[in-house]
Amino acid sequence: MCGIFGISGHAEAATLTHLGLYSLQHRGQESAGIVSADVGGQAHGIRAMGLVGEKFGPEVLEKLKGSTAIGHTRYSTAGSSTIENAQPALVNFKGGHIALAHNGNLTNATEIRETLESVGSIFSSTMDSEVLVHRLARSTAAGPEAQMAEALQGVEGAYSLLVLINDTLLAARDPNGWRPLVMGKLGDAVVFASETCALDIVGATLVREVLPGEIVAVDRDGVRSLQLTPAATLHRCVFEHVYFARPDSQVFGGSVDRARRALGRRLAVEHPAPGADFVFAVPDSSNAAALGYAEQAKLPLEHALIRNHYVGRTFIQPTQAGRDAKVKVKFNPVREILQGKSVVMVDDSIVRGTTTRGLVALVRAAGAREVHMRVSSPPITGPCWYGIDTPDKDQLIAAKLPLDKIADAIGVDSLGYISLDGMLGSVPDGPNGFCHACFSGQYPTLPPSVANKMRLGGRA
Ligand code: AMP
Repeated sequence: MCGIFGISGHAEAATLTHLGLYSLQHRGQESAGIVSADVGGQAHGIRAMGLVGEKFGPEVLEKLKGSTAIGHTRYSTAGSSTIENAQPALVNFKGGHIALAHNGNLTNATEIRETLESVGSIFSSTMDSEVLVHRLARSTAAGPEAQMAEALQGVEGAYSLLVLINDTLLAARDPNGWRPLVMGKLGDAVVFASETCALDIVGATLVREVLPGEIVAVDRDGVRSLQLTPAATLHRCVFEHVYFARPDSQVFGGSVDRARRALGRRLAVEHPAPGADFVFAVPDSSNAAALGYAEQAKLPLEHALIRNHYVGRTFIQPTQAGRDAKVKVKFNPVREILQGKSVVMVDDSIVRGTTTRGLVALVRAAGAREVHMRVSSPPITGPCWYGIDTPDKDQLIAAKLPLDKIADAIGVDSLGYISLDGMLGSVPDGPNGFCHACFSGQYPTLPPSVANKMRLGGRA
């Protein structure tokens, strides 16, 4: 998964992109990058492994001249976690330069890559997104948005894109709208971002979503919009609302905080916990859902788990060993709250079960008498092919075990997941138009033909 940010028409383009990326750090912590373009059409780029705040000091930003810039935060869902795969990609071609930042996964990237390689293209990374750079460079269409339209022909799967072709900034979203992308305004400058929290940090106001199937071009001639394809069936990723996006953002036109609270309320209706003393969240992604649960159940909400904020998202560590060790580094229970109590522990999802099992053990060791686990998404039974880093089926606890066995495996007294209908009915603009393949097995596309090939050296 990734975060993307772009701005056109601002003297401080790179600095504002850097700021915007701070707000999108939760979408990817492995690498980050910024490319700027100046009026002469010169491009300047920087990419680094690690966090936005660590790698891009003022001396770096100063070199990123120009009034147009795009940025990217990444964790690998296609291609390994290496500097070659960091984005934005930046290449020179016959018409100048192309920079590209991509959020999502292309499901037919392998086929496109093979076709390109068969006519001599050489790739410098293992990521799916690089095929788009080649397609753009080879396009003979007249003008940046036509080039983009041509490059995207026959491309399947999920993409929210920000592209620089010389000093034209292009934004595009796949026809199914899998990943979010919004457009904002900052004075005369036009801003794009994965989530509205990145507009907030630079002081931009939300104008609208980039529409599914739309290409927006911004340059000194103004803002132009091109509808690439007629509106298709929407497959907006429901997991953005459940877990991925920040609660202070709007995605797909709806508030993430409101979505999570509604999920929590619905969860409490579907799976009450009679006799429980209080509710607590696995911070931070479940805070709003736990609040909703507590409101509905009329139970107090306690802060029984404290999260160390200097540790990144557990899951984002590529190896299993890293993940195990990190549970304790990341969370510590408050004994004074938990001692002797029957508690409702709310989390947004159970993936492998590793974190949950570790957390339940911590909570019990801190004296909890009963642990009732409530989950604000249904059991995850399949991988995501569209840009969320869910592992393969054989690592998903809910794909391997029935409910009662999951409860045993994670060590809880009771376990309740929200239903699929309950989840879809709780998110803004639901229940239709959302992708729920990882929960339901209803994948809207054919599988990527060689599912693991694009995950070369990929995640454990
Ligand atoms: P697990 O131990 O694999 O069951 O991890 C569950 C935890 O991972 C939950 O607390 C979720 O908030 C979090 N989580 C779920 N999906 C992802 C993801 N794709 N990337 C990072 N963290 C995730």
